[in-house]
Amino acid sequence: MDFSIIGFARGEDHSSSFQAINPVTGEASMQSYAHATLSELETACSLAKKASTILANMPGVRKADFLECVADRIDARVEDLVKVMTFESGLPEARVRAEAGRTCGQLRMFAGMVRKGDWVQARIDQAQPDRKPLPKPDLRSMLRPIGPVAVFCASNFPLAYSVAGGDSASAWAAGCPVIVKAHHAHPGTALVVAEAVVEAVKSCGFPEGTFSMLYGDGRKLGKELVMHPFIKAVGFTGSRAGGRALFDLASSRVEPIAVFAEMSSVNPVFVLPGLMEDKLTGFVSGLAGSATLGNGQFCTNPGIVFHPDGPLGDRLLSEYVDRLKDIPPCPMLHAGIREAYVNGLDRLSSIEGVKVAYRAVVPSGSGGCDVGPCVLSVSLADFLASKKISDEVFGPSTLLVSYSSTDQLLEVVQGLEGQLTTSLFGEVADLKANADLVALLEATVGRMLFNQFPTGVEVCGAIVHGGPYPATTDGQSTSVGERAIYRFVRPVCFQGFPEEALPDELKEGNPLGIKRMDA
Ligand code: NAP
Repeated sequence: MDFSIIGFARGEDHSSSFQAINPVTGEASMQSYAHATLSELETACSLAKKASTILANMPGVRKADFLECVADRIDARVEDLVKVMTFESGLPEARVRAEAGRTCGQLRMFAGMVRKGDWVQARIDQAQPDRKPLPKPDLRSMLRPIGPVAVFCASNFPLAYSVAGGDSASAWAAGCPVIVKAHHAHPGTALVVAEAVVEAVKSCGFPEGTFSMLYGDGRKLGKELVMHPFIKAVGFTGSRAGGRALFDLASSRVEPIAVFAEMSSVNPVFVLPGLMEDKLTGFVSGLAGSATLGNGQFCTNPGIVFHPDGPLGDRLLSEYVDRLKDIPPCPMLHAGIREAYVNGLDRLSSIEGVKVAYRAVVPSGSGGCDVGPCVLSVSLADFLASKKISDEVFGPSTLLVSYSSTDQLLEVVQGLEGQLTTSLFGEVADLKANADLVALLEATVGRMLFNQFPTGVEVCGAIVHGGPYPATTDGQSTSVGERAIYRFVRPVCFQGFPEEALPDELKEGNPLGIKRMDA
């Protein structure tokens, strides 16, 4: 039996436990994992609270060393991860190695950012004692950590958005302790990474409460975690129902806290009239690759495509179906995601006017969680007539919607919910000719792409992986890239403070040599 990690100790109560299920074979893991008790949760929260003051005052260079140490320790466990994660997720070895690389890359990116130090946005307004009619006081502000952060692991990124993924890395970089709620689908993967994190905490001399990881049911333990008064923010990637439930819980607290939930997006693609006949085959091949990447289980999966009707549209549909027929069914990450996909397709197919152009048949005898791609089509009029038609169907499905005039697309976008991305395909002149559409889209999404597909999110300074609700619960933030750190900080102003009592970032002599905004 394996247990939760509570600081440097392990949970002990094994009265309730669970196993991982291999989505390819349906086989249960040899190992069982004990659900954390409420008393273990309490200890983890108390340790995190104690650690938060120490971490808040930890110099950037030491936080950078810690983040790099976590990355090095994960690198050293990649072979273990390959074994356990391929079993628990059904993902191929190459994906495990690539995702481990991305995870470590994210940790090192935040290390570079906090080592440099400019990210704190230090602002200095010098005193003007002689200002008339009133003197101006000395005011200095910077971003400071918010306190312990609860992170819910994502099923679709067992490494990059789980124990030491983007949410945890950005929280640690900000100076916040992290308590992770492991995902029930990959407890062994979570444990390997958690052990690597604990080694890093110890070897860098960080406080015990810097990190804990709890196994448990979202609706019981997850709920208690979010409601705990010591928790000051939540990071989440998953379903709209789950993210919204956590957001509502957090808002109902005596002290409401922010929930940064990344949830649901259909990432609409707009084929504009300028897309030439000779570019159609390239477009179809790119769409097929993007829509079926990772069996469609990426947040940026392009789920709805608007295209001109007539011969070009007919060709698009038939070439796309031909492409997808070549893609064999493969397993989804867990039984719940498979069930949601199958139910989502059934719901979509039953909407008035929706035609199923292709739905892969899963051969009998295939593994328990196998599904294949699906292509559906609908006219713009029928699309506009249904409210639920644009709800996310998480998986390798694409709804093709034919339009006769780009003016109709304005009505489409006005009715669209918030999205992570939108992709526009056509000529440069199409952007000018459809400036109103582009402006409306900008107000609806987090990332706009031109002649590119949305999957394969680059982790860097400029990336935005966010968007208005329901893409996220906080459209002012991103969960990927350097800006993700700003979710876990708040501005604090020091007025009239003596030099020696100011944080180094705000001292007159600028001992850290960081870029500051001086008035
Ligand atoms: P999920 O059901 O939302 O679960 C994610 C995490 O939140 C799990 O730890 C879960 O706990 C917890 N949780 C769920 N509902 C909760 C609630 N009401 N209260 C407290 N905690 C709760 O997501 P999933 O398992 O990853 O996948 C299910 C569906 O989510 C998919 O079919 C897909 O539709 C959607 N999804 C979307 C994205 C995206 O990026 N758009 C990514 C992943 C999944 P347990 O461990 O107890 O379940």
